[in-house]
Amino acid sequence: MFENLQERLGAILNGLTGRGSLSEADVSAALREVRRALLEADVALEVVRSFTDRVREKAVGAEVLKSIKPGQMVVKIVHDELVEMLGAESSSVDLNAAAPVVIMMVGLQGSGKTTTTGKIALRLTNRERKKVLMASLDTRRPAAQEQLRQLGVQTGVDTLPIIAGQSPVDIAARAVQAAKLGGHDVVILDTAGRTHIDEPLMLEMAEIKRKSNPHEILLVADALTGQDAVNLARNFDDRVGITGLVLTRMDGDGRGGAALSMRAVTGKPVKLIGAGEKMTDLDEFHPRRIADRILGMGDIVSLVEKAAETIDAEKAAAMAQKMAKGKFDLNDLAEQLKQMQKMGGMGGIMGLMPGMSGMKDKLAGAGFDDKTIKRQIAIIQSMTKAERLNPDLLKHSRKKRIAAGSGTDAAEINKLLKMHRGMADMMKAMGGGKGAGLMKQMMG
Ligand code: GDP
Ligand code: MG
Repeated sequence: MFENLQERLGAILNGLTGRGSLSEADVSAALREVRRALLEADVALEVVRSFTDRVREKAVGAEVLKSIKPGQMVVKIVHDELVEMLGAESSSVDLNAAAPVVIMMVGLQGSGKTTTTGKIALRLTNRERKKVLMASLDTRRPAAQEQLRQLGVQTGVDTLPIIAGQSPVDIAARAVQAAKLGGHDVVILDTAGRTHIDEPLMLEMAEIKRKSNPHEILLVADALTGQDAVNLARNFDDRVGITGLVLTRMDGDGRGGAALSMRAVTGKPVKLIGAGEKMTDLDEFHPRRIADRILGMGDIVSLVEKAAETIDAEKAAAMAQKMAKGKFDLNDLAEQLKQMQKMGGMGGIMGLMPGMSGMKDKLAGAGFDDKTIKRQIAIIQSMTKAERLNPDLLKHSRKKRIAAGSGTDAAEINKLLKMHRGMADMMKAMGGGKGAGLMKQMMG
């Protein structure tokens, strides 16, 4: 459950009113909560450490203003420091170079490079009246170049004609040449990713960079990148040299801790935020907004947005069909849990609403908080396909393996299995009826 950090700290520190300044012990107690909040937001461990060290230095001995409580004082110091570390001002794509300005998009497979290429191209076309050329250098996935071509058609932005058999480096050179001849102001190179960082990828990126001399190299990363964010950013920055970061899928359940991690290890600014699949879903980076989100502070506006996005009609329909047939295996449970996670867990929703803490506690007691859901999904993901379809296979030794794989224990696995059994039985009993009693049953 991510409660409001302010509430948590308040509970710890508000007894201290009356004292004039924050003591070492006060600050240590507060920083334990801060550390928890940051880890829940997926900030990488080493960054959490350096961050809390910085806050400690500023907070110990700090005067507590008369008008506010010590807890609020710490929150303010934490928040200010977070904003500063994220980069106090937003900076955007830099086009200050001789045309055609080359922008190179790098990142892992599926991080959103191609989508973001289209989004940036559309933005530069509409807002800055630039003539843009997009080129796909992704020769690894058969449909990748076609994907970008279609985005070009959709946005009305030029794409480099596809020629089969060319290497990524050759395509890059051809793109720059075509942009010169075509009078384009900007050329965006959409590179191929890999599922993980490896030597061939880094060599390819370095070679493309050498041949095309990009002015901007933007590392695109999924907002859900957890502890890996540090490695990812460090590797790309050391090996290729990035100029900025783009965080995608901020419309999802991530709290954006990766922004802090990647910024901290590279010192490079987050330039843009991807917040959806549509070509217009590209936002400027607002450090304050992300800081609020990382700390889990209330924000009614994002509550409304979240609620709207979570109504995923298609998935609901598919689930209803399965329920109608009385089928509900652990894959289905995982799907349900992911839906809940998408809402930031029940705690996420409640945390955004003022005065809902009582409800939050009730939900937390029923095991529907952010962290528990994360662990439950990890448990199911650690199972084999057969186990997911048939939980009866799960005897002691298998549970041990799953516990190790998911960082949980047998008790937690048993609790999950019990919940699943309860739900499956109910599905059967209902024989496809309404799912209305579902939540009630799970929380009962
Ligand atoms: P690439 O492999 O890095 O080029 O990734 P793609 O651009 O092909 O994106 C992979 C998937 O993520 C696609 O289905 C995109 O629609 C989706 N995607 C990209 N950016 C976002 C985003 O900001 N929000 C959401 N919800 N989906 C995104
Ligand atoms: Mg791509």
